[in-house]
Amino acid sequence: MKKYITLFLFGIIVLILGCFFLWHKNAIKAYFQKNSSNYSNESAANQAEEKKDIIIKIPIVANSTYGELMAQASTSPTLANRIYEAAKPLYDLVKIRQGHSLELTYNKDTNELKKFVYKINSEDELYVAKNTAADKTSTTSVSEWTAEIKPIPYEVKIKIAQGEVKSSMYQAAIDNDVDIRAIIDLADAFQWTIDFAMDPRVGDIFKFVYEERYLDGEYICPGKILAGLYVNDNTPYEVYYFEDSEDNQGYFDKDGNSVQKMFLKAPVSFKYISSGYTTGPRYIAAFQAYTSSHMAIDYAAAYGTPIRAVGNGKITYAQYKSGYGNTITIRHNETYSTNYSHLSKFAVKRGQNVSQGEIVGYVGSSGYSTGPHLHYEMVKYGVKVNPLKEVLPPGKPIKAENKDKFNEEIKKYSEMIK
Ligand SMILES: [Zn+2]
Repeated sequence: MKKYITLFLFGIIVLILGCFFLWHKNAIKAYFQKNSSNYSNESAANQAEEKKDIIIKIPIVANSTYGELMAQASTSPTLANRIYEAAKPLYDLVKIRQGHSLELTYNKDTNELKKFVYKINSEDELYVAKNTAADKTSTTSVSEWTAEIKPIPYEVKIKIAQGEVKSSMYQAAIDNDVDIRAIIDLADAFQWTIDFAMDPRVGDIFKFVYEERYLDGEYICPGKILAGLYVNDNTPYEVYYFEDSEDNQGYFDKDGNSVQKMFLKAPVSFKYISSGYTTGPRYIAAFQAYTSSHMAIDYAAAYGTPIRAVGNGKITYAQYKSGYGNTITIRHNETYSTNYSHLSKFAVKRGQNVSQGEIVGYVGSSGYSTGPHLHYEMVKYGVKVNPLKEVLPPGKPIKAENKDKFNEEIKKYSEMIK
């Protein structure tokens, strides 16, 4: 009997140790990763001290709060509150999101917390640091902690990716080991040019140059798409990223005209339809395209898929309409308006102004409809027209004084996507 008790106790100890290890796994991992990467870094002499600091990453799990996570890291409520208060004018830590993490840096000698970092989004991080002795002499420093929002210091690598559409662009990305997030960004760069629900054909080709972002040698996410080529039904389309001026930056064609137009090519984003849909032709066969008896385009999409305004405008209708179900009308200007029908839910009200890309409602099957889909119409001078056939003027061109710089920049990228 005694033997069993011993065995039982031994089991309990193993279990506790196991739990302890799992609980601190990330912290231990982060600690070793940080140190090894610092040792491999030939950095300045004043960083020699910092390489001994301990960095702990606390993953933010479902329903956890800032206070709980800080307590879990043995931070006193007073200290946690000081950091919270220092950060508050810039970022309210009540809003921390699941899936991200809190990064705490401790001084190796004193074991004191000296730095707190929270990644707000893929671009910026909240950085709260304990003031050094030098800062303390400053009269402006009221708190012991100073917060800043800084761009995340990624290391950037330029990559080229390509693929051929055999069943769908989404599948082509998977087949070619391309990060899906980069494909979504590529589709966004072409969102005024190509309707990724209706236009893609088997044999279409895409090739693009983009940034890959790394932190401590670890791949984090794709950055900007710098240049993209999409050959749709044998017609090549190219886009190049350029910052012309404060109010004119983004994607341009090779002649230097902005590809951003008055209307998006489709009211559903590739992001939401990418994984589910198949090829263009099959798609059109299965769902109604624009014909003389059906002067609209039907987008089959899962119930609840967000629907976006194709252009800036004012909501002139947002209610149930016989046959069409829940319907939204956006008046864009004296010439154009667009209608969105069979919605499950409205995201806007009549009289409201909306911007291009803003979510106005959600796919449903209200009214006369056999399954969840969006019935989309474009009206020009009171007459229904095929939105895919509307030719719109090109967007704002690059300023004359920036043209040389633009040509120089796209020269190297156009070679890369050939
Ligand atoms: Zn329809």
